[in-house]
Amino acid sequence: MRRETMCIQAGYEPKNGESRMIPIIQSTTFKYDTSEDMGKLFDLQAEGYFYTRLQNPTNDMVAAKIAALEGGTAAMLTSSGQAASFFSVFNIAGAGDHIVASATIYGGTFNLFNVTMKRMGIDFTFVDPDCSDEELEAAFRPNTKAVFGETIANPALVVFDIERFAEAAHAHGVPLIIDNTFATPINCRPFEWGADIVIHSTTKYMDGHDTAVGGCIVDSGKFDWRAHADKYPGLTTPDESYHGITYVDQFGLEGAYITKATAQLMRDFGAIQAPQNAFYLNLGLESLAVRMERHCFNAQKVAEYLQKSDAVEWVNYPGLPDNRYYERAKKYMPDGTCGVISFGVKGGRAAAETFMKHLKIGMIATHVADAHTCVLHPASSTHRQLTDEELAAGGVSPDLIRLSVGIEHVDDIIEDLEQALAAVK
Ligand SMILES: *Cc1c(COP(=O)(O)O)cnc(C)c1O
Repeated sequence: MRRETMCIQAGYEPKNGESRMIPIIQSTTFKYDTSEDMGKLFDLQAEGYFYTRLQNPTNDMVAAKIAALEGGTAAMLTSSGQAASFFSVFNIAGAGDHIVASATIYGGTFNLFNVTMKRMGIDFTFVDPDCSDEELEAAFRPNTKAVFGETIANPALVVFDIERFAEAAHAHGVPLIIDNTFATPINCRPFEWGADIVIHSTTKYMDGHDTAVGGCIVDSGKFDWRAHADKYPGLTTPDESYHGITYVDQFGLEGAYITKATAQLMRDFGAIQAPQNAFYLNLGLESLAVRMERHCFNAQKVAEYLQKSDAVEWVNYPGLPDNRYYERAKKYMPDGTCGVISFGVKGGRAAAETFMKHLKIGMIATHVADAHTCVLHPASSTHRQLTDEELAAGGVSPDLIRLSVGIEHVDDIIEDLEQALAAVK
């Protein structure tokens, strides 16, 4: 199946007489005939459901659709993108370990890593995604367990050189984890470029309609945990909290990572997505391919319009031929990147605020990447916890406006921008 078809068909195949839509299994609990039957589930000896804190059939059907779209072997839904980022790293790293991460990752992920996970004893080195080979090499340590980057950074719109970072990670015997939220598997499949694990904030384009917060983790099944068994004892030695199961032996390379994350992290942290939200997410996924095409078409036109406007200081969109990442975007995302543009209004911070106040269609929201056009001034909102230096390292200037171009008619979006820019002059 092609991706457009997978959006509709993958993950759930109704049998004769069953509901066409994915059923919402709104149940915390699953019933068994004997204690022995249930015991087998607890020991991971048999497949099945027992408690929705760990797994739910609705979630698994939707996760299977995303796994198919990404070309992965296993996937799980989480309650948010933040939970997905956290689990993706914490599943293979603990106190005393170290992670190499791109400095331009989403502000929420940066804070999770740099503050909260550091408090758990995991150390992070943040590297400029366009750093020299020497700098990248110097970031690795003997206790490094993973490399983490974002296909298209939110909001800096840096296009990550996935292939280069995958090679560096593999040379050090660690996996590359990619946050593919902005590109979505419609525009980029990181596994095709060597990434090992992909995460999503499904809250953005996948849901696509401001409906449900959620996340997803997908495993490519390609990373050879056994070949680096000394680094990943959690996957390659018996888990005493699960009756001595060794994940790679029982579930193979294709299933070990997600099974461990379900059995340990979902069990202990319980950051599961509600089945009702998984249903909404699936509705969003059904139209993801058509929406991404429209987002990219609209954003390209809007970026070209902004570039020509004399009220605008600068425009950053990887689809513009003079953009620093134009060539790299063409390589990794030949069909388009995303609907998000950043730009600076002439007149700096005050002008930016006036401009935003005058928008009629574009709404001011912390949200991004969905059907409705929305705008945000990160320096005074989402990124306000960061210092100016951290902002600069993350590629965010104080005058940066993040414009998430929706799927309305592009002429209405441009007319709205036009009248709001006129109000600034
Ligand atoms: C929003 C976002 C996240 C966090 O996801 P939530 O669903 O808000 O928890 C992570 N990464 C990127 C790129 C995002 O845009």
